[in-house]
Amino acid sequence: MKKGKKLYEGKAKIIYATNDKNLVIQYFKDDATAFNNQKKTTIEGKGVLNNRISEHILSNLSQIGIKNHLVKRLNMREQIIKLVEIIPIEFIVRNVATGSITKRLGIEDGTVLKEPLIEYCLKNDKLGDPLISEDHILAFDWASKNEIDKVKKMILRINDFMIGMFRGVGIKLIDFKLEFGRIKIDEKNEVILADEISPDTCRLWDSITEKKLDKDRFRKDLGDLIPAYTEVARRLGILHEQSNVSAVNVTKLSSIKRKKK
Ligand code: 5GP
Repeated sequence: MKKGKKLYEGKAKIIYATNDKNLVIQYFKDDATAFNNQKKTTIEGKGVLNNRISEHILSNLSQIGIKNHLVKRLNMREQIIKLVEIIPIEFIVRNVATGSITKRLGIEDGTVLKEPLIEYCLKNDKLGDPLISEDHILAFDWASKNEIDKVKKMILRINDFMIGMFRGVGIKLIDFKLEFGRIKIDEKNEVILADEISPDTCRLWDSITEKKLDKDRFRKDLGDLIPAYTEVARRLGILHEQSNVSAVNVTKLSSIKRKKK
């Protein structure tokens, strides 16, 4: 597979064309942004960990029948993914109230929700990804009723699966963001799960200590983001004790090699 020109650069990833018009390469950057790009930095090794964690979660979801964009991981930083038309909505799933919902609605931080709550935000950085309702989605044709119904069913299944997967390794899945895309499979229009699922897009708390193991370490200046992401990867069985010495060291080594050349 040949890597072609850059098609799109986002905050945490770059998409490259390939010689197959239906496939693209997704490159995971080390850039971290928060608060609608107002806070930015580079955290060496983050992209490598998110690539591995996202690959693990998406391949497990595939095995339980959740169609998604992942074809395969290529290397430390890249995956081959299916080219989809992204639905311009961020689907937020909450099991415990924290983050924006506590501020928006005055809900006490840490309130456990009776049922998973799905919120919709318009994917628009300039507008700060505003919260929208299902009626807005239909009114402006951002997705059809049929697509929303299918997505909601998938979301609940994904949430159930991920809660169990993380619970098994001593982590609480607090909330997360999902994106979906349109694709033609065997001449049929389908909606599949797209984008990454990683500690950048999920809130993950240690089950006992409630230590934050996700991007809130950057958002809230808690530090030690790489050890937290490495801990998530290690608990999921992705990095073995020795190799976790680690993702960061591997990137350091590769950047030293590049400088020498
Ligand atoms: P909140 O609305 O509380 O800021 O975020 C809810 C959940 O969705 C968190 O797990 C957060 O990481 C994720 N999330 C919401 N918007 C974005 C976004 O634009 N980018 C990323 N990476 N995650 C988001």
